[in-house]
Amino acid sequence: MEDNMNNTLKHLAKSGIKRRDFLKTMSAVGALSVIGTTKAQAFSSKATGRIAIIGGGAAGLCMAARLNRWLDNPDITLIDPSDRQFYQPGFTLIAAGVYEADEVYKTQESCIPDGVKWVKDSVVAVDPHKNSITTTKSGEILYDFLVLTPGLQMNFNLVEGITRETLGQGNAHCIYDYVGAQRTWQAMPKFTQTGGVGIYTDTYTKHKCGGAPKKICLLTEDYARKHNTRDKIELNFFTASPQLYNVPLYTPRLLEIYKERNVSIALQHKLKGIDTSSKKVTFEQTAGDVVTPLTLDYDFLHFTPPMSAPDFVRDAGLGWTEGKLARESWVMVDKETLQHLTYPNIFSLGDCAGIPTSKTSAAIRMQAPIAAKNLIAVMEGNLPTERYNGYAACPIITEYGKILMCEFDYNKDALPSLPFIDASQEQWASWLLKVYVLKPMYFYGMLNGIM
Ligand SMILES: Cc1cc2nc3c(=O)[nH]c(=O)nc-3n(C[C@H](O)[C@H](O)[C@H](O)COP(=O)(O)OP(=O)(O)OC[C@H]3O[C@@H](n4cnc5c(N)ncnc54)[C@H](O)[C@@H]3O)c2cc1C
Repeated sequence: MEDNMNNTLKHLAKSGIKRRDFLKTMSAVGALSVIGTTKAQAFSSKATGRIAIIGGGAAGLCMAARLNRWLDNPDITLIDPSDRQFYQPGFTLIAAGVYEADEVYKTQESCIPDGVKWVKDSVVAVDPHKNSITTTKSGEILYDFLVLTPGLQMNFNLVEGITRETLGQGNAHCIYDYVGAQRTWQAMPKFTQTGGVGIYTDTYTKHKCGGAPKKICLLTEDYARKHNTRDKIELNFFTASPQLYNVPLYTPRLLEIYKERNVSIALQHKLKGIDTSSKKVTFEQTAGDVVTPLTLDYDFLHFTPPMSAPDFVRDAGLGWTEGKLARESWVMVDKETLQHLTYPNIFSLGDCAGIPTSKTSAAIRMQAPIAAKNLIAVMEGNLPTERYNGYAACPIITEYGKILMCEFDYNKDALPSLPFIDASQEQWASWLLKVYVLKPMYFYGMLNGIM
């Protein structure tokens, strides 16, 4: 932690950032962290039972840490095949040349709390009637209580003409992938030098960090502006939604920024495919009931693949079967307690959870203590009583050095957490928070269950 703080201060000095402003931001976050730590330690339970956690990403590790601390006799098995734990919000900053690629991960082993059994394997099936999990090579694992946190599945196969492995071909990029983010940074500055048409898309499914496609679009624009090449590029943003953003406090300023920066916005355009050899992108454009195909030339493309819950969730009958969250089979949990609606011994949070909020690690930071306490209540034979209000944060980077820090709940009411800034405008303090504070907070606070 100390090394990390020293590195952070070195970064700050290099960037010419005033120590006093940084410490002001830190003190706001520090206050939150102290409250978080005190709360985290003030609760314990004698409840027992075998807990299995599927997926040790942001949500799974947060849950492992909380449950491990709060249970007097924890019996926790975490199943995850990964060698590395990635801080995914850092991918945007890799793609923008702010972070180096090796700054966003730690070994998975170092992130797993002491005492938690790690099965380094993938889950292929769950039988919720038998409380049983099937893994690729470690056989069957039985549980009494299940935490479902495998994140989401990026379905690159639903975009014709490109795969995850061929990202970068034909200058078609995607920062949702770790390697893809690195390739984006290799290509973005070149594009702003050579010039041409840039096309940026989101997707028609719920996707993690809905702000990420907007961030890389605005960062490209700002990079060009700062390097005096803005007039060489034309930038166009295509969204599958009927509006660019839908949180009242932040939407007006975001729309204004797109206008001021001359980035066009096209609504209700669903990405179909990419021809990387001729650099053409195809959309389906919806107007009323009419759907029209549209093919456009591009010189630089950033696209977002459709996303869904992992296949085993659907196969196990754990996803929603009706309503808006059914098509991608997001896990069918109560949006406030995060308890499964059919199987009370199952809880789900994070990207795979079928709840109507933004899929972000900021949301997980709020969900984890609630889900952990509710799970413990069920282990004790009680009803879950903790309630999640849908809090999520999406820091939309609008330029190098500024962020529109969008924080809101299920009702789309704003919930700003930095009291000394005007949250409806993009701010430098939020940039400081994003670039220098949130990553150490993730690895040393959140994943340890103390924030
Ligand atoms: C480009 C980008 C920018 C982002 N920006 C922000 C931001 O600014 N702010 C913010 O708050 N959030 C941001 N996010 C979103 C945030 O990173 C995610 O919401 C968060 O990481 C989700 O955590 P999770 O635990 O649900 O899933 P993950 O962290 O993805 O973890 C899932 C884990 O499950 C494991 N797993 C998957 N399948 C199986 C299986 N079958 N068996 C066993 N294990 C399995 C995986 O190996 C992985 O370790 C961003 C994400 C991206 C990609």
